[in-house]
Amino acid sequence: KNYSQADIRQMAKDENVRFLRLMFTDLFGIIKNVEVPISQLDKLLDNKLMFDGSSIDGFVRIEESDMYLYPDLSTWMVFPWGSEHGKVARIICEVYSNDRKPFVGDPRNNLIRVLQEMKDAGFTDFNIGPEPEFFLLKLDENGKPTTNLNDKGSYFDLAPVDLGENCRRDIVLELENMGFDVEASHHEVAPGQHEIDFKYADALTAADNIQTFKLVVKTVARKYNLHATFMPKPMDGINGSGMHLNMSLFNKEGNAFYDEKGDLQLSQNAYWFLGGLLKHARSYTAVCNPIVNSYKRLVPGYEAPVYVAWSGSNRSPLIRVPSSKGLSTRFEVRSVDPAANPYLAIASVLEAGLDGIRNKIEPEDSVDRNIYRMNIQERNEEHITDLPSTLHNALKEFQNDDVMRKALGDHIFQSFLEAKKLEWASYRQEVTQWERDQYLEMF
Ligand code: GLN
Ligand code: MG
Ligand code: MG
Ligand code: MG
Repeated sequence: KNYSQADIRQMAKDENVRFLRLMFTDLFGIIKNVEVPISQLDKLLDNKLMFDGSSIDGFVRIEESDMYLYPDLSTWMVFPWGSEHGKVARIICEVYSNDRKPFVGDPRNNLIRVLQEMKDAGFTDFNIGPEPEFFLLKLDENGKPTTNLNDKGSYFDLAPVDLGENCRRDIVLELENMGFDVEASHHEVAPGQHEIDFKYADALTAADNIQTFKLVVKTVARKYNLHATFMPKPMDGINGSGMHLNMSLFNKEGNAFYDEKGDLQLSQNAYWFLGGLLKHARSYTAVCNPIVNSYKRLVPGYEAPVYVAWSGSNRSPLIRVPSSKGLSTRFEVRSVDPAANPYLAIASVLEAGLDGIRNKIEPEDSVDRNIYRMNIQERNEEHITDLPSTLHNALKEFQNDDVMRKALGDHIFQSFLEAKKLEWASYRQEVTQWERDQYLEMF
């Protein structure tokens, strides 16, 4: 909603809000909070609230650490759970640098920039419908998460097998209290795994929603003595957690992907966008699957994509075209996982798609058979490539793709690359139990 400053003052008073939680997101997708008492509201509304950005990952050097938080008033939301000290409201903020310019290292500002690029190209909206999955884990006596799954349920199971059901229902209620339009919630394939889908929104709101969603899921799970994790592959041998992104592009006429007369009722722009999504798939993987663990999910056998291909019917490829058309014509990108920074992930797929439109990139033909049953020769004949198998391989693709530099801007592109290379360097030095089990006695 478009609140005025007066609206915000009034709502703060009516709801007896005592604390303001000012939220933004760092490079790694972690939500950062600066909490201030309500007495600071005027200062915030005047864009005078400063904070020290030097300790935020991917932000700035010490000498430019004074930054401003400019509130996006439309994101005002009172948390439904009370506290003994009064209510807490959150506002998502844009980070501004000392010279009063949008800080280029803020992933949210970056998405706003890419969305402007999209508007300059003649489109009005990029809509995103996310399908985040997560696990609920039991806590030990010290309140630390264990690897004990909280149930043995499976896809669409019902209680009493699905012990997470009450918790999930509570999560859905809290989300609805906060204005979310929850479309579906169900137990996922793996034990202890759940999915909650909320209604699509414009890209910026969708990214904000994903961040708020994670916060709500984790907070409510705690009430049930559970830990909610969005780690992409917490357990081997069972499915990991993805965050499929459904996306559609709009112009003044409506859904720009829809054409009644087109093949599969898809427009020329849709095919070019798809061409871009396929062409840059290997490089935006670094952004959409940003951690070492992400690649343990992208393996055959667990309903996660492994190959770069698309289909109008089959669910195994990277990109699927759901059958509902018209206003809801969309692409579903199935590789994305919930460890991704949603602002960066959305910017990267949008830039890839726009590149397809700009350069009229035709996609390969669709693959409507099970890719996992094809051998490498058959895959080569169909020009099906592999998604990167490790963070290291993904980063190699990422760093050579100028479209990714454009998607993230120089500052974020560079800091992301450096940080992720360090993450990989640290991981590759680790000697794992798997290796000792395999090799210690053999050699
Ligand atoms: N959990 C699967 C993944 O990793 C998706 C399962 C599904 O939604 N059908 O992407
Ligand atoms: Mg789903
Ligand atoms: Mg799912
Ligand atoms: Mg899906």
